[in-house]
Amino acid sequence: MHSQYRALALVPLLLLANQVLDAQKKLKVVTTLNYLRYIVEQVGGDKVDAIALANPKQDPHYVTPTPRMNQLASDADLFVENGINLDLWAKNVVDASGNPKIQRGNLGQMTATINVPLKELPLEVSRAWGDIHPQGNPHVWLDPLNVRIIAENIAERLKKLDSPNSDYYESRLGSFQDRLDIAMFGEDLIKAIGAKAGDILVRKARNDELGEWLKARKLDSKLAGWLRDAEKFKGVKLMSYHKTYIYFCDRFGLQIAGELEEKPGIPPPPQHRDAIVELMNKERIRIILNDNFYSRDASDYIASKTNANVVVTYIEVGATPEIDTYEKVISYLVDEIAQAAK
Ligand SMILES: [Zn+2]
Repeated sequence: MHSQYRALALVPLLLLANQVLDAQKKLKVVTTLNYLRYIVEQVGGDKVDAIALANPKQDPHYVTPTPRMNQLASDADLFVENGINLDLWAKNVVDASGNPKIQRGNLGQMTATINVPLKELPLEVSRAWGDIHPQGNPHVWLDPLNVRIIAENIAERLKKLDSPNSDYYESRLGSFQDRLDIAMFGEDLIKAIGAKAGDILVRKARNDELGEWLKARKLDSKLAGWLRDAEKFKGVKLMSYHKTYIYFCDRFGLQIAGELEEKPGIPPPPQHRDAIVELMNKERIRIILNDNFYSRDASDYIASKTNANVVVTYIEVGATPEIDTYEKVISYLVDEIAQAAK
């Protein structure tokens, strides 16, 4: 071929290459918390670039916005928040980002926990002194069944923002939910039930009918996963530093006898510590859950007077190098509590 023809033949190829690049442009997603970033990655796969603002070792209630966070949000296509008054600090970042797409009410902003059934809803909404859970308990993601809902919400929004890839997001959502179901209930049980096993088991668990339902069908021996492991500590009473674990404990059959904090966000004063020692000795409570971002002084003091085990807990993906997935956040909690309950 003559060289001038060859040059002309290249033009359509270059145009095509540009179109391919456009089609491959990823959605930039900024999340407040790391568990949200993880879910966005599970659902969004290689169609998204996701980054979380908070340090996973930090208290999610108290994050200080930085210029770097504003910069990260400035060209985001989607900004994902937990909501329920947990990540209120995100508002400063969104305001300072100057990014119109991620302002409240636009498609580029979402509260991921919508439709999650909330616990500890106050009878009247107030922000009384020391109350940092004024709209109900925001630590919803420590129940894997809630994460299923959060993943659905995120998939819905990705489909709206990037409709040509709807099928892709839907299929990844299904795979993520299947993985969660297997981790929760065990693969054998899911195979034994067959079609729609995940939906059925989730519904039974939500209605507190799972145990009876499995027994009636002689399927209880097939239960595995986190729920089987949790049978080791069923009914065990424990204390926690902050009201972090209501969703986790309700799902896995633990009873919370109280918190070291008298009110969420306020460290325990000495007289409160002594009252807890008395309560724990009376009720033979032997476990204290202490989130990694709270001082363990009060827990250690109480443990020394009660013979209790202090379990240092992590609630975020990436809080330690080992806990690098959401599934590992839950596995760690289940395993450590089982150990402490022995
Ligand atoms: Zn809290």
